[in-house]
Amino acid sequence: MKKISVYFKKFTDLILETLYPSKIKCIFCDKDVPKGSYVCNNCLKEDFFNIGETRCMVCDKPILEGNIICDHCKMIKHHYNKSTSPFIYKGNVRRAILKFKSDGAKYLAEPFARFMVERLLKEKIDFDIIIPVPSHPKSIKKRGYNPARLLADEISKLTHKPVKDILCKVTLTQNQKYLNYKERQENLENSIILKDKSIIKNKNVLIVDDIITTGATIETCAKLLKGASNIYGCSVAKTDL
Ligand SMILES: [Zn+2]
Ligand SMILES: [Zn+2]
Repeated sequence: MKKISVYFKKFTDLILETLYPSKIKCIFCDKDVPKGSYVCNNCLKEDFFNIGETRCMVCDKPILEGNIICDHCKMIKHHYNKSTSPFIYKGNVRRAILKFKSDGAKYLAEPFARFMVERLLKEKIDFDIIIPVPSHPKSIKKRGYNPARLLADEISKLTHKPVKDILCKVTLTQNQKYLNYKERQENLENSIILKDKSIIKNKNVLIVDDIITTGATIETCAKLLKGASNIYGCSVAKTDL
């Protein structure tokens, strides 16, 4: 009898905890944080969080004080106006994004989107429609979701701007990890198509992805979205390459 009551208590505690969570975890390090915050005090002090204010005005990469744009953006003429990312892809940010991308931690889309919207507001980026970077149907089937789509949906809830799934990934691209910028772009071209061009005419569009590494994906998507008034990119994090 005692056993049953113990189980019952455990069960009701579990339900109560689900409905009214008393302890929320830090999205980066899993330590408890007070209700209403996503990040613990320790992570707030980390360098992935307190990224210096001097950032490339085109791609948001941290740069040395006194500079306006980074070396990469000096060399390349982008097809987008500007891209922005609240975090640098390293340490616990990297860990959290991998959890979100490969470990089914879909709940991270909401806090990530909040930081992305905060950054978009700070950079005064105004957009009419949100376009997620597409995933191949096979990848979506394997993972169960497209992380970029989840982020786009959360940004839409916060900004009341619609999500338009007009980009489509038609071929599976090989692992991009070891490819350079040019190789990545060649690999990506023709793997993504635009389904409906009429939607973007005279619109400011926001392309959403989870990570921006070399920027080749955003570049490929932006190229396809030619005809839009302004094209912006946004991701949770950017690599510090
Ligand atoms: Zn933390
Ligand atoms: Zn740059």
